[in-house]
Amino acid sequence: MRELITKSFLEIFAQEPIHAFAPGRINLIGEHTDYQEGFVFPAAVAQGIYFGIQKNNSNSARIHSFDFNEDFRFDVKSFSPRKGHWGNYIMGMVSQLNQAGYEIEGFDMVFGGNIPVGSGLSSSAALSVGVGTSISGLFDLDIPKKSLALYAQKSENLFEGLNCGIMDPYASAFGKADHALLLDCRSNSHEEVPISLGQYSLLLVNTNVKHKLADSAYNKRRSACEESVDILSSTFTGIKTLRDIAEADLPKVKSILPKELFSKAKHVILEDVRVHQAGESLRSGELGKFGELMKASHKSLSQDYEVSCEELDFLAKESWKKKYVLGSRMMGGGFGGCTINLLENNHILEFKKSIATSYLAAFNIEPDFIEVKPSDGARLVK
Ligand code: ADP
Ligand code: MG
Repeated sequence: MRELITKSFLEIFAQEPIHAFAPGRINLIGEHTDYQEGFVFPAAVAQGIYFGIQKNNSNSARIHSFDFNEDFRFDVKSFSPRKGHWGNYIMGMVSQLNQAGYEIEGFDMVFGGNIPVGSGLSSSAALSVGVGTSISGLFDLDIPKKSLALYAQKSENLFEGLNCGIMDPYASAFGKADHALLLDCRSNSHEEVPISLGQYSLLLVNTNVKHKLADSAYNKRRSACEESVDILSSTFTGIKTLRDIAEADLPKVKSILPKELFSKAKHVILEDVRVHQAGESLRSGELGKFGELMKASHKSLSQDYEVSCEELDFLAKESWKKKYVLGSRMMGGGFGGCTINLLENNHILEFKKSIATSYLAAFNIEPDFIEVKPSDGARLVK
């Protein structure tokens, strides 16, 4: 991919670029906890986006998307959002950098990669973080990774209108090979947890569906959590989010909250606990325990938090039946997207065949399989 980007850059701009790379990400466990300042457990993956970039001594940014074979141009001193266009992620980052006081001059850029768009690996975060990394390298700005992650988050918020969390750009920026990041969404800091999978692998199965409910349900769940915090704060004084409630307080929480709110709060409170347990089990190499936590997470998301769908439930349940699968759960916001599965290497082919057949029979849709491996985060490439 890198060579293709260089070649394309030379053809279009007739000079040598410098290079950067930014990966997509998975989340091992910790779903719908980020907006309650809880814990998540992402890792960067090997799939990502490559960038070639060079100064052009003007005020223009001239960009070529290799994957979409499309050009986009804007004036780095004066531009406005263009929602839904890939160029928006680039303008969003330049806008953040400008606001932070970095002097950005004109540049030429070609980028392209191998993250399937919109399937849960967060190609948009890779694009934003990669733009930040390449501009930082080109103009010798030495921008800290955490700032890049925060700019990327703000950029998507302001330019795309997406109320997204810090996890995706954070994982793309800080990823480390054979590690996952136990990320605290209150302090925005993380612990690296080594992951040694041995004879096991992580495999995503894409349902290839996206139900319309997703956005409205997301907002409803967020408000439900906020309502619970409001109600609970008269008993649990000083709490700011559900993250501040301990597992031991669940019986009390149950006696206070209406049934509907309780099941939602319970998910968030126990999912935080599961993230820490997952950290422990991966640290000590207890993959079986981690697999059980994945299953518990899925059940909680499906039954208590109610953000799963038929297709995700089907894939998870089919996987749980197989002896060589240690764990399986929905990954991401829900109502479609992927399941993440931990299974024995030498059964991957058998798994793909079996799942493809049963999923096709049940829904008349072909699933996609994506092999993922915890990998290094965004960087300049020599
Ligand atoms: P995801 O879950 O993959 O982040 P999003 O809908 O949030 O999906 O972001 C996908 C958008 O990001 C695309 O529509 C496009 O605008 C931009 N994008 C991602 N990867 C690329 C790429 N390789 N080339 C051009 N644009 C990309
Ligand atoms: Mg995205």
